[in-house]
Amino acid sequence: MDSQPLRPRYHVVCRECRVERLVDGRDAAVAAEREHAKETGHRVVAERV
Ligand SMILES: [Zn+2]
Repeated sequence: MDSQPLRPRYHVVCRECRVERLVDGRDAAVAAEREHAKETGHRVVAERV
């Protein structure tokens, strides 16, 4: 990939409630996704912004 920032920012959004979070980096996005999914069983998506 060209000119990819070192820490892309991700917008983590729950499809089933109003939780959303802005995090730095893919690892943080995955962690936020998993954490919410584990707590609630909701489906969470992370998209780069
Ligand atoms: Zn949720």
